[in-house]
Amino acid sequence: MSVPSYGTNGELRQRSVAPEEPVKTVTTTDEGRKMDELLDKHQTYEFGGPWGVTAMMIGFPILMYYLWICLWFYDGKLVIPTSTDDIVPFLERMWAHVRDDASPNAYAWKVYTGLVVYQLFLAWVMPGYQQEGLPVPSLGYKTLMYNCNALYSLYATMITAAGLHYYHIFRLTEIIDNYGHIMSVAMIYGFAVSFGMYFITVATSNEIRMSGSFIYDVFMGACLNPRIGPVDLKMWAEVRIPWVIVFFLAVSGGCHQYEQYGYVTPNMAFMILATWLYLNACAKGEECIPQTWDMYHEKWGFMVIFWNFAGVPFTYVYSVVYMASHEPSKYQFSTPTYVFLFTTLLTAYYIWDTSMSQKSRFKMQTQGIHTFRNTFPQLPWGTLKNPEFIQTAHGNRLLISGWWRYSRKPNYVADWVMSFSWGVIIGGATIIPYFYSVFFITVLVHRCGRDFERCSMKYGKDWERYCSIVKYKFIPGVY
Ligand code: NDP
Repeated sequence: MSVPSYGTNGELRQRSVAPEEPVKTVTTTDEGRKMDELLDKHQTYEFGGPWGVTAMMIGFPILMYYLWICLWFYDGKLVIPTSTDDIVPFLERMWAHVRDDASPNAYAWKVYTGLVVYQLFLAWVMPGYQQEGLPVPSLGYKTLMYNCNALYSLYATMITAAGLHYYHIFRLTEIIDNYGHIMSVAMIYGFAVSFGMYFITVATSNEIRMSGSFIYDVFMGACLNPRIGPVDLKMWAEVRIPWVIVFFLAVSGGCHQYEQYGYVTPNMAFMILATWLYLNACAKGEECIPQTWDMYHEKWGFMVIFWNFAGVPFTYVYSVVYMASHEPSKYQFSTPTYVFLFTTLLTAYYIWDTSMSQKSRFKMQTQGIHTFRNTFPQLPWGTLKNPEFIQTAHGNRLLISGWWRYSRKPNYVADWVMSFSWGVIIGGATIIPYFYSVFFITVLVHRCGRDFERCSMKYGKDWERYCSIVKYKFIPGVY
């Protein structure tokens, strides 16, 4: 059988491949190694440099408190001072809400720390699927092993939570009831872990790609592959904290409705399903995470740490918080609308899951891995047979089959549609639950710009060729 591929000079050429012949492994060329070395050095300041990141480090917590206060105490309206004379009283009112309802009290420390310790314990002891990561240039192209046990840990967490709830040891409704307090503790964790990791990394001389600006390096991170025993902290924190909390917040909201009304609304069921799908996808496809940019390129700094510990869990599911504290009549839809919303969610999920899987498995094939994990659910088209690709001068290959034939970021588009549906599910009752999709589109566009810039540097002319074949960044035929 003959399938097209592209030579290092860009010419389209035919390669002969037997249907069962696997994609061959890649080796980084000398040119590629030089480029990797360059990419592992600080190039330019991103995010507005030291001042920009300082503003974000101060701004994120303030924004999180503000949105929570508006949702919780002001019926989801974005409140502002009524006049210039009201500015000081307004700030005093805001502060009073934080002081009284979001203090980092002993209970919140117990709950949040309990989760962190339990998740760390599970990550340490649970059996898992052994996955080899991509070669790490800064470690002389050594690969690291990842014990992917998030799925068993998730099942164990769900059983434990059900047991604690059933036996009234820890009622799941309490998570939503203590939202403000737990959010404050989460933020303190975000700051403490970021600064702590920076100092530990520098003290142990494990830093990489440093800029020399203290605050910028705390924000971007100092270390690339932080580990405690067998646990890769960066990968652990990306899945086991944010998405677990997001899911249990939705479950907490569902329990709340059930206790109050004797039933769970389709809107809340939607959020429980949506958050479970996301969490389960991260766990069932955990072995694909080492192949993502976050793992092999991003460092473990405030940007990632704060967002994992506090940002994602306490800003992504405002719709749940709203529903848990408001009458179902405020966010009721017709049956066809529910059908439309559930269909949109499941379609977007399918594209997201399979596009991520296609690219990750293609990358694994180039590493010589040809048997894949069989976790639930495995969706059709998740693995491409005889995929087409561009062979770059760097050594790596760029996939141009599957969803990746039509868009350079099919995964971002699908992920964003899901985020939008998490807000749409309460309709126009309040705009605050749309924060996730608005914030996320900014993150994705910015991330995409950074990523494309890096790829263009890494692959040079091959990247241009790739862009001429896969013309659209996001939506085929549109943009
Ligand atoms: P991608 O999965 O798109 O990874 C980008 C990298 O993949 C590139 O740097 C390049 O790396 C490689 N690549 C790009 N195109 C190709 C191709 N055609 N063939 C082979 N390799 C290619 O992005 P992310 O890692 O940023 O995101 C992963 C997922 O995480 C996304 O679905 C995103 O939506 C999600 N996400 C979710 C967030 C949230 O808060 N909900 C936050 C951030 C991300 P190289 O060539 O160097 O290997």
